[in-house]
Amino acid sequence: MKEIKKSQTPISKLGEFALIDQLTKNIKIKNSSTIKGVGDDAAILDFKDKQVVVTTDLLLEGIHFNLIYTPLKHLGYKAAIVNFSDIYAMNAYPKQITVSIGISNRFSVEDIEELYSGINLACERYNVDLIGGDTSSSVTGLIISITAVGEVLKEKIVYRNTAKENDLVCVSGDLGAAYLGLQLLEREKEVFKQDSNIQPEFEGYDYILERQLKPEARKTIIDFFYKSDIKPTSMIDISDGLSSEIFHICKNSNVGCKIYEDKIPIDASTIKMAEEFNISPTTCALSGGEDYELLFTIPLEQSDIIKSFDGISIIGHITNKEKGINLIAQDGTNVPIIAQGWDAFM
Ligand code: ADP
Ligand code: MG
Repeated sequence: MKEIKKSQTPISKLGEFALIDQLTKNIKIKNSSTIKGVGDDAAILDFKDKQVVVTTDLLLEGIHFNLIYTPLKHLGYKAAIVNFSDIYAMNAYPKQITVSIGISNRFSVEDIEELYSGINLACERYNVDLIGGDTSSSVTGLIISITAVGEVLKEKIVYRNTAKENDLVCVSGDLGAAYLGLQLLEREKEVFKQDSNIQPEFEGYDYILERQLKPEARKTIIDFFYKSDIKPTSMIDISDGLSSEIFHICKNSNVGCKIYEDKIPIDASTIKMAEEFNISPTTCALSGGEDYELLFTIPLEQSDIIKSFDGISIIGHITNKEKGINLIAQDGTNVPIIAQGWDAFM
C-alpha cells in the first residue's frame, strides 16, 4: 500500500488553496479562445463562429487504473489524452480542459505535482489550455475527472451515425497492443506479489507497454483530413476494441459491414506477445481496449487520398443493414461481430 515518504510533503501541510496555487501558477494560456482560465469562479471561453465540443471522463483508482504499475506522470498524461481522443473523433480540435481531483491522504504534494506534470505535458503537446478544476479530499483512493472542450466549424463535424453503404472502413495506427501491455503488467504484478525479489521482465516489450501506459491521441489524422480537404462520413475513437466500435457505427448508421481479418493492422510485437499469452492477435484487436486509434468511413472515391497516407489502413466496407455486421476470417468464413468491448462493470 502506498504511503507518504518522510521527504515528501503531506497535502494537509499546504492546504487546498496553496495546493491549487502550486499546481496552476505556471500555466500560460496558448489559445485565443481562452479568455479567462484559472483564478475566478469560472473560466470564460469565446469560440466566435465555431461550434463547441464537450466531453468528460472519470477515472477511479482500482477500477480504471492501478498505481502499482502506473506512474503518476503517465496517468496524468493518459487522463488528458483519452479526452483529446474523444474530441478528435468528432473531427474537432481540443482547446481547453478542466481537471478535478479527489486525493486521499496516501498522496503527497509531490505526487500530485507528478500527476500534473503528465497533464501539463499532454496540454503542451496538443496545444490545450488547463483552465480550471476542483480539488477535494477522498477516502476511496485517487479520483481524476477531466472535461475537455474543443472547437470545430459546423460543416466539419463528423458523427458516428452517418456511415453510408459502399463506404470504405478505415482505421489509424495499429490495434491490440494496449490490451497486451495491460496483460503483461498484470502478469508481472502477480509474479512480484509471490516473490518480491523477482524483478519484472519488461525488456523488449517497450511498444506494448507504451501503448498501455502512455497512449497518444490521433491529432495527425485530423490534421491530414483538414489538409487534404476530406471529411469522413462517420468516425469514432477506439477505446473499447474494434468490434464494439464498428458495432456502434453500424447500429447508429443503420448499415452493415464487412471487415477483413487479414487487413486489421497489428504490430509485430503485439503478435509476438499474443502468441506468448496464447491468445489470437485478432481477438486482442477486436476485444482489447484503449488503443485510442480512430475508426472512420470514407466514400469509395477517396480511397486514393487515404492510401497516400502512411498511418491508415482500409479494413473493409459498409454494406446494407440486411447483410449484418461481419468479420471475414482469414479462411474466408463469415463471423458475425458482436459488441463486446471493455465492460468496466464486469
Ligand atoms: P470554488 O470554491 O469556486 O470551487 P476553488 O477554490 O475550488 O473555487 O478554485 C479556485 C480556482 O482554481 C478556480 O479557477 C478553479 O477552476 C481552479 N482549480 C481548483 N482546483 C483545481 C485543480 N485541481 N486543477 C486546476 N485548477 C483548479
Ligand atoms: Mg472548488
